[in-house]
Amino acid sequence: MKRTKRDDATSSRTAPTEQTSGAAATEQDRPRDASGSNGATAPDTAAALPFGGLAIDFSTDTGAVPIATSVPTIAFGPDIAPVELTPGGPDEHRFEHGRTESKVLIVGSGPAGLTAAIYAARANLTPIVLAGSAPGGQLMITSDVENYPGFPDGIQGPDLMAAFRAQAERFGTHIVDVDVDRVDFSSRPFRLWAHATEYRAESVIIATGASAIWLGLESETRFRGRGVSACATCDGFFFRDKEIGVVGGGDTALEEATFLTRFASKVHLLHRRDQFRGSKIMVQRALDHPKIEVHFNTAVDEVLGDTHVERLRLRDTVTGRQWEMPAQGLFIAIGHKPDSEPFRDWLEVDAKGYLVVNDQTNTKIEGVFVAGDVHDHRYRQAVTAAGDGCRAAIDAERWLEAQGIIEASTASAW
Ligand code: NDP
Repeated sequence: MKRTKRDDATSSRTAPTEQTSGAAATEQDRPRDASGSNGATAPDTAAALPFGGLAIDFSTDTGAVPIATSVPTIAFGPDIAPVELTPGGPDEHRFEHGRTESKVLIVGSGPAGLTAAIYAARANLTPIVLAGSAPGGQLMITSDVENYPGFPDGIQGPDLMAAFRAQAERFGTHIVDVDVDRVDFSSRPFRLWAHATEYRAESVIIATGASAIWLGLESETRFRGRGVSACATCDGFFFRDKEIGVVGGGDTALEEATFLTRFASKVHLLHRRDQFRGSKIMVQRALDHPKIEVHFNTAVDEVLGDTHVERLRLRDTVTGRQWEMPAQGLFIAIGHKPDSEPFRDWLEVDAKGYLVVNDQTNTKIEGVFVAGDVHDHRYRQAVTAAGDGCRAAIDAERWLEAQGIIEASTASAW
């Protein structure tokens, strides 16, 4: 389905910053900038500015690498020329698609993978990122991101990921938009195959994230792209003035239902139990919304229609009673599963398929590290994934140092 990027962001705006007494500093206390000014403004103006108007002038600092003023958009699809698709194998080792050997190879390009790349690249490890055929991770199908620090007015998910990517590339990360098919972690260098190319790496950071879970109905699969979707921000636009269903009772379902009210004439929130799993504030938003009708104890048994979704066969999960409800769309928002498939033969996984980390970001194979949602089913936030990517890169670098593969770094490497 076509990706659509919303241009009608209505993210909540932050209230004007209040000056706190704790931020007050005397004239003498304030640091001097390169021009000799202490950056202080007149008392009445300073009180209205964040941090009392304190600012250090870095304009004469020549150490920084110039940063692009605008963030480039991500080009979707492989950044390599099409190649004949032959199965990757142990004897295959091709070089025609650019660099395939690295000290650190990162699999995945969400906040975890790209943060790992930024850190590894700044430590001069010139990482390769195998970004996946749909690079950027779940934030690419997220509209307003209001909880990522540093963006008081929120930011669109794709814009945030474009910035991550630009930052990783700025320091020399080589990014290839391909999926990993299989790996061999039996010896070093580790070997990974993607798009019929073999990559070799002294260390690997797995940051493949998680993806949407579907109900598993045959009719759901049949109508995918014809009214059934797992991404409100991608496809909501196509349901203007339509009546639609959203399945789930967690924050994703609540968020998607609320978002879809921008387009739909009515949103039926269909939850299999009589209590939501989502956070109180999001539950309240959905309950208060005049366009959202909540159906507790309700399951979808079948999606009905000719060429497109026309009706849903629903079931009362308590009484078993079935009935049909008109609907032109159905959004599935029942959670995610970890994208750990290629690694399961080599690493420990839990009952739900999440990779298990033994200590910090380490796995049971030395030199293989894990970051982000592929192991974290507790926090699952962009900011925690990014933090995890940072930790994995630092762990990888320290491990490479300990192996004597790279020289010991200094603290300033980061
Ligand atoms: P959750 O696991 O929290 O919720 C999944 C929901 O789907 C549950 O209500 C569950 O029902 C229901 N469900 C699961 N399987 C089925 C099925 N086969 N048929 C019908 N219903 C089913 O996943 P979410 O994706 O909602 O949230 C994941 C995490 O991400 C949470 O920690 C959440 O807080 C966070 N999040 C935060 C957001 C934000 O802050 N803006 C936005 C989105 C997510 P039941 O309750 O009966 O188990």
